[in-house]
Amino acid sequence: QLLMARNLPKKEMIFGVKDIIVVASGKGGVGKSTIAANLACTLAKLGKRVGLLDGDIFGPSIPLLMNVQSEPLLNDKDRMIPPENYNVKCLSMGMLTPLDGSIIWRGPLVMSAIQRLLKGAEWGPLDILVVDTPPGTGDVHLSLNQHVPVTGVILVSTPHTASIQVTIRGAKMYEKMNVPILGVVENMRYSICENCKNRMEFFKKEISIKSLPSKLISIPLDAHIADCSEAGVPVVVKYPNSEYANLFTRLAKEI
Ligand code: ADP
Repeated sequence: QLLMARNLPKKEMIFGVKDIIVVASGKGGVGKSTIAANLACTLAKLGKRVGLLDGDIFGPSIPLLMNVQSEPLLNDKDRMIPPENYNVKCLSMGMLTPLDGSIIWRGPLVMSAIQRLLKGAEWGPLDILVVDTPPGTGDVHLSLNQHVPVTGVILVSTPHTASIQVTIRGAKMYEKMNVPILGVVENMRYSICENCKNRMEFFKKEISIKSLPSKLISIPLDAHIADCSEAGVPVVVKYPNSEYANLFTRLAKEI
């Protein structure tokens, strides 16, 4: 992969987009898409013009999380107009393929799909395009970094050892590509009991990735977060004055 990365084609800006922030994780199911959606909504609440691109071609979550499931319209230049919800422009393969249809593609097709979502759409004007990526460090990550200038990456992990190890590997890949790590989100280490307000720790240790010069934010395991995802209303939208909203505001301000 790194050999491929050295063979970089010329990077092109996306017209009208100032910054591209990638949200990545080593493993699936750690909450990456949830973090990406809540971060995008928080940035929008802070007054930024925001887009959210679902780079998970095989397992798109953004249409459900953001409740944007309609097919994008085309403008007179045949460019997709990303549908908008919660002041965030969203685009996903999930809007372009039927739910019951399978996608059986090899690497080059995946790369061209990402390119089409990035460059075949009328994104601008945007301050920040947040890109949710598939787990790991595969084709989508390389394709993104090869074709567009990525401002920085936010890594998401739970505190279990295997997830941390693969997150560190992902961090190293991004460092080698000279993409700064803007933040690390630790997800689901603890939970606060609704009744007694006691804090329950599910993992004994905190994530500590000493080699990374970035700040860490810890998001609790919380039924509201899961319920909101299921309902297609990110928790920071549904509960704008909550502790979750504060945590995401801290993350957004790191950017
Ligand atoms: P990934 O993108 O890493 O595969 P998702 O964001 O799709 O993970 O999250 C997987 C599941 O975990 C979803 O059902 C989501 O609602 C839930 N989830 C994520 N983070 C939290 C959290 N902090 N508290 C409760 N549920 C969470």
